[in-house]
Amino acid sequence: MFAIQAMRQGGPEVLAYNELPDPVPGPGQVLVDVRAAGVNFIDTYRRGGMYPMPFPHIVGSEGAGTVAALGEGVSTVAVGDAVAWHDAPGSYATRVVVAEKSLLPVPDGVDFPTAAAIPLQGLTAQYLATGSHRIEPGQTALIHAAAGGVGLLLTQFVKHLGGRVIGTVSTRQKGDLARAAGADEVFLYGPDVDITATVMDLTNGAGVDVAYDGVGKDTFDASLASLRPRGSMVLFGAASGAVPPFDIQRLNSGGGIFLSRPSLQWFARTPEELQERSDMVFAGLNEGWLDFRVGATFPLAEAADAHRALEGRKTTGKVVLLP
Ligand code: NDP
Repeated sequence: MFAIQAMRQGGPEVLAYNELPDPVPGPGQVLVDVRAAGVNFIDTYRRGGMYPMPFPHIVGSEGAGTVAALGEGVSTVAVGDAVAWHDAPGSYATRVVVAEKSLLPVPDGVDFPTAAAIPLQGLTAQYLATGSHRIEPGQTALIHAAAGGVGLLLTQFVKHLGGRVIGTVSTRQKGDLARAAGADEVFLYGPDVDITATVMDLTNGAGVDVAYDGVGKDTFDASLASLRPRGSMVLFGAASGAVPPFDIQRLNSGGGIFLSRPSLQWFARTPEELQERSDMVFAGLNEGWLDFRVGATFPLAEAADAHRALEGRKTTGKVVLLP
């Protein structure tokens, strides 16, 4: 098989397209021919050393493809089935081993690039809107990077649940996309923009019920200050860098704020929970209120360019690699 390996810790230049032996599925696992691999920010954190990893490692954890072989005891899928997954290490490859319990069936009519866009960001948007903070009708959510992969999906979930969305983006074109996804208010953030003052204006001084912040270092303070008393601060990523340690007393002076730092693994702890969340994601697709936008595709061999684009804020929606 061919795969993208991060040969050492570093920038996109450490990614190499290498020929490697096929992986072998063990008990409870399947071998999949990858038809599309999802690119996620976590892949860049692992490549760059923010999250400790052994090197070299095959990058990626998400994708969609067809089952090529079954490991011992596998009973819920057959060779040839179309499947998707969010947590199989080594997914930037032509073949990968996936745990049976992680497999999501790909519904008829959904193509592989779209199917690869669904698991990680779709499930993340679902748990952010229903688990980390449950959106109630009439609540207002601040969503940073609203035209990004998670941002566009989260905007649609909040709207579906009856909430109001204030989105931030870096360009007008991204603003148009966020609005098309349902955002009620969108503004351009940047070094010269007072995010908190803008949010307070847009909420008549009340502040938002929840701030969903996947940008991290550059927006965290403003997100915290934009909340209503007893609001929820959901820090779910670090696209601009990690938030430095901070004084817990600020949660008190900020109005008794609820702070969480979630990740998908804690909201898909059992096959049943994964199923329940993915059911809502696929229901959104079927019912037409959830649209997955594949913003860019790259050949697998050009994964480094995909990372450059994602880290360089050049992308919208989902980025997918095609083997
Ligand atoms: P996006 O498509 O949202 O890309 C990141 C966006 O962040 C950029 O397009 C950019 O939007 C914005 N951004 C702001 N500042 C920077 C910066 N300095 N460098 C790069 N980007 C910046 O990515 P994803 O949808 O894949 O992920 C969004 C966030 O969600 C990430 O932090 C990721 O780690 C997190 N995540 C967390 C999960 C969890 O369970 N905790 C699961 C999945 C993702 P703009 O140009 O509009 O500013």
